Amino acid sequence: MDNDTRLDAGLIQRIHAAQVAAHYAQVPAMIIAPCLGGLFSVWVLSGAVDDRAMYSGFGCILLLSALRYFVYRRFKAATPEQRAQRLWPVLAIVFSAASGVLWGSAAIFLYPPHDPAYQIYLVLICAVIQMAPTAALACYLPTFYAYYIPCALPFLVRLVLQEDRAGWASAALLLMLMAATVTFARKYYVDFFEAVRLRLLIERQRDQVQVASQSKTRFLAAASHDLRQPLHAVTLFAEALENDLHDDAARSKQRGLLEAAHALQSLLDRLLDVSQLDAGGISARNSQFALNDVLSKLVREFAPLADERGLSLRVVATRCWTRSDPDLLENLLRNLLSNALRYTHRGGVVLGCRRRGKQVLVQVSDTGIGIAAMHQPHIFEEFYQVDNPERERNKGLGLGLSMVSRIARLLDVELHLVSTPLRGTTFTVALPLTTAAINAPAHETVILLPNSSLQGRTILCIDNDAGIRDGWRALAATWQCELITAASEAEAIALLAIHSFDLMILDYTLAQQRNGVEVAQAIEQRLMRRVPTLIVTGDISDQPKSAANRAGYLLAHKPLAPGKLKALLQHLLA
Ligand code: ADP
Repeated sequence: MDNDTRLDAGLIQRIHAAQVAAHYAQVPAMIIAPCLGGLFSVWVLSGAVDDRAMYSGFGCILLLSALRYFVYRRFKAATPEQRAQRLWPVLAIVFSAASGVLWGSAAIFLYPPHDPAYQIYLVLICAVIQMAPTAALACYLPTFYAYYIPCALPFLVRLVLQEDRAGWASAALLLMLMAATVTFARKYYVDFFEAVRLRLLIERQRDQVQVASQSKTRFLAAASHDLRQPLHAVTLFAEALENDLHDDAARSKQRGLLEAAHALQSLLDRLLDVSQLDAGGISARNSQFALNDVLSKLVREFAPLADERGLSLRVVATRCWTRSDPDLLENLLRNLLSNALRYTHRGGVVLGCRRRGKQVLVQVSDTGIGIAAMHQPHIFEEFYQVDNPERERNKGLGLGLSMVSRIARLLDVELHLVSTPLRGTTFTVALPLTTAAINAPAHETVILLPNSSLQGRTILCIDNDAGIRDGWRALAATWQCELITAASEAEAIALLAIHSFDLMILDYTLAQQRNGVEVAQAIEQRLMRRVPTLIVTGDISDQPKSAANRAGYLLAHKPLAPGKLKALLQHLLA
């Protein structure tokens, strides 16, 4: 209840501020009109009325206009906090009242008692001056009353005091006009108030939605970190178990465990990625880059998988540059490549680019099973799969292409699909071609998988979670490499004196103030050399990614499949 009242009071305060701002927005018109009206009246009434009084009145109008203009400029330059001061509405009321009094005083000082023609002019010009600013003043009603009453009332009194029928009749007409003007002003005020109230309510709701969406993103990032951490440990242990088990039944259970962990891991990854995109937690960070860098990185990553499946994987080198978000584009192409390799049983996959006018078309083509025309409009929907009614996990999750279309929307790029059943499929992403293409160095060669072995290498692993450290140790034993573990930066620094190592693996979120990237940099500084480094994180927000990118380290999200992990480490050592 208290909270509601406070909120309403806040809203009323904002409406009041909007009314005062609307008043000040009209001030230039409220300066120009009286100055011109005054000048015209001086010309008309000169000689017919008390000239000294008239010139003094006009001088006052000019002085008042100058002061009003000065205040108007100050208001325009004021910050929202300064505009919230009580001074501004008070000044608005004071200036309106002063202007009203000046024009109203014409009924006392300039009324020619014996000249009906000039009387009519004076009443008419003042009626115009009284009514003209009604709409401008009525958005903040106190300024309207402050102006209108002292402006109109003296004329009414003057006509009544004339004590003849014409004067009384005119007074009655003026009274009716005043009633109509006040009614109009009040109606205008209510409509204006309501319009502002609705606008502010919509803005407030939009802000609330934004806050809710941000907290959803934060929740997802936190949940993903906490879920991925133990899952990562499960995967490492399950993988390491393989060498310890000698009977077939136990091995088959271990494989089942590993498969289930992998399935859970990829489902978790996908769901978190999709919901993060939906929550607006990811935004495109465009930069200009050589497409070849992205393509060759992807081919290096997928080459072992293609090899395993007996498929060829080729990248056609390109000199094209584009402007987009390289990370999101990489993610999009990664999904397409993974599908291409999954749905191709013979032949292979080609990743290449083609110039088309001001665009560069990045294409992922495969010689796979293809997609029938009837399924093509649906494959971008969540959980839509062509041939998996029993929803077998090893046949995918049906989320990859929905991610692809979300990323394409985020990047504002077109996505095309051409597919013929049993012949193959080509997905095309149309990106803008940028001028840097002209000066870009040529990359002529097809990139091949580096294949350096981990055997006999020493790895320094820093993670504050004892379970994860044990998992790493068990896994490293299966790769026949030595693993030195440390729980903190201090422990790692102490180890530097007695051990040398070939690469580092650091958890991004360490217990102390410093994150994994900062610790890795501190170690490199001590060693006075660059060390191949992998940063591992369960945090899907942009922060770890940007920190690792800035420092030039490779970043991987937990949980990681041991095979992929091994390939990443091999790549680092290559
Ligand atoms: P999934 O995890 O099932 O691969 P996707 O959303 O990535 O989910 O793909 C949806 C469906 O589109 C898949 O089930 C598959 O039938 C079809 N599909 C996607 N890419 C290809 C491709 N390159 N070749 C043949 N079919 C494909």
